[in-house]
Amino acid sequence: MIPPIASNFVAGETSDAALSHVETLNADGVGAILNLLGEHYHDRAEADADADAYVELVEELARRDLDACVSVKPSQIGLGVSDAAFEENLARIVEAASASEGDCFVWIDMEDHETTDVTLDAFERHAVETGGEVGVCVQANLKRTREDLERLADLPGKVRLVKGAYDEPKAIAHKKKAKVDEVYKEYLEFMFREFDDGVAVGSHDPEMVEYAMDLHDEHGTDFEIQMLMGVREEAQVALAGAGYEVNQYVPYGNKWMQYFYRRVRERKENALFALRAVLS
Ligand code: FAD
Repeated sequence: MIPPIASNFVAGETSDAALSHVETLNADGVGAILNLLGEHYHDRAEADADADAYVELVEELARRDLDACVSVKPSQIGLGVSDAAFEENLARIVEAASASEGDCFVWIDMEDHETTDVTLDAFERHAVETGGEVGVCVQANLKRTREDLERLADLPGKVRLVKGAYDEPKAIAHKKKAKVDEVYKEYLEFMFREFDDGVAVGSHDPEMVEYAMDLHDEHGTDFEIQMLMGVREEAQVALAGAGYEVNQYVPYGNKWMQYFYRRVRERKENALFALRAVLS
């Protein structure tokens, strides 16, 4: 069972628990991006099992008519085994999502820099084949991202811009927060100017969200705000109430421990919250 302190950030161990959370979110006008926790598998059977779970999930989402989509990690569905395993499993999930009655959207998370090329290539193939029913994440901290955005601007499908969660080498990544914030804004400007299928702002940073709102007013480009479960949830509901499209990234599954500690480590407030819960 997930202890109460972790259940702030993780919707439950089962898809049923996650779907109940989605129902509550939808009632508040917030959509969901479901992620079954798991990554870095080197065993094909594990990767196949999680891909099977996503196939079942997209079918269940259509049956329940929920405002929800899925986000998959390449190393969860086979990239740690082989490029072919990743591609086969991703194709299965995208096909099931496109065939489902709800036309479920499939996001592909971005992992460390060694996986960027294979992830973008897979996105491109499915974006073209499905006419834009898939999305991919790009990271502002990577110096290559400006060029990647130019390639992505010509493709159908959506792109989520995040600051970047991986500790990348200095030669290929911006390391200072101020620099990452500066390029994040620069990339948002490019995306609002050049992207036809909308922009996804994957950030809790009020400065970035307000910047995106200003760019929307200037260019008219559609955009959505994406934040994690357990982070600025009141703001998520308020933004949805104000008419913005907000989607919450909702992790679930029995591999919640590592994810929870990552959330605790990345922010002092989260660590204090966890400590207070343990002491009480
Ligand atoms: P930060 O720079 O961490 O914080 C800026 C400001 O935001 C803070 O000063 C504060 O005002 C506010 N804020 C941030 N956190 C909190 C909090 N806990 N409580 C209150 N206020 C807060 N990374 C990847 O590398 N690959 C991915 O595929 C990926 N997918 C993501 C999907 C989503 C939906 C989101 C939201 C993030 C994703 N990330 C991903 C993580 C991302 O790269 C960042 O590490 C993470 O979002 C932290 O950056 P930030 O923009 O939220 O703001």
